[in-house]
Amino acid sequence: MEEQLRQAERLDSLGRLAGGIAHDFNNILAVISGYAAMLTEEFGPEHELHADARAIEQAAARGSGLTRQLLIFSGLEPSRPEPLDLNAVTTDMQRLLSRTLGDDIELTTMLSLDLPPITMDRNKLEQVVLNAAMNARAAMPSGGRLTLTTSVERHTGQVCLSITDTGYGMEPSVAARAFEPFFTTKGRGKGTGLGLATAYGVVTDAGGTITLESALGAGTTVKVSLPPAELASRPSTLVRRPSGGGKVLVV
Ligand code: ADP
Repeated sequence: MEEQLRQAERLDSLGRLAGGIAHDFNNILAVISGYAAMLTEEFGPEHELHADARAIEQAAARGSGLTRQLLIFSGLEPSRPEPLDLNAVTTDMQRLLSRTLGDDIELTTMLSLDLPPITMDRNKLEQVVLNAAMNARAAMPSGGRLTLTTSVERHTGQVCLSITDTGYGMEPSVAARAFEPFFTTKGRGKGTGLGLATAYGVVTDAGGTITLESALGAGTTVKVSLPPAELASRPSTLVRRPSGGGKVLVV
């Protein structure tokens, strides 16, 4: 128990440190992005430096994606909860994903009618869906199907979004650690290990739960369950950093 508390404290200060750096870094990246965009425009497609300027722009965009993740993970990004229709958020995400996932991924959305509203920070919820979808993309290197499904759990009234892929699934040892901050199987420079840890923090802060169901060779479902708006919990003072927590079901 004491060791668990120490681990939670360590992760908490690590999160704050990472968040502080991310904040300053984001401003630096905004300057690099701005100038790179100017250069890309200045050097038209014919110019020998056009591709270099684009490469700087793209690297800066990747950097800001990562710092954004760190800011949300650290809890330093303030939350702006608002009433949300999960179906509308899902539809918007589908639009975004259909442009980014690539032609070899078949994207399907199944919306449940009459979902009650939820209360949540929209940007953070979108980040959760994006993280799960990017993991799904990575788990289907030769294509597959990604399905976004909304539902209401009959016995609890929780409002749910499942992100299901037909990818390679997870070894039980990977599934057991998947929510751990900085745990990644993607290799240096490819994964940060912050995607699911961030999702865990965001969803539990909103009073919800996030579960994983994975079958090796068949695919993975990440299910986010959130309380309907009238039951949404007030902000709590509990330590929220997971230490490899999160409910994990391996079937
Ligand atoms: P990252 O994506 O940076 O590695 P995450 O926290 O998002 O960090 O994921 C941790 C690990 O969980 C991944 O490296 C991968 O091994 C595993 N994982 C997550 N989502 C999936 C998925 N949909 N299919 C297979 N493995 C997954």
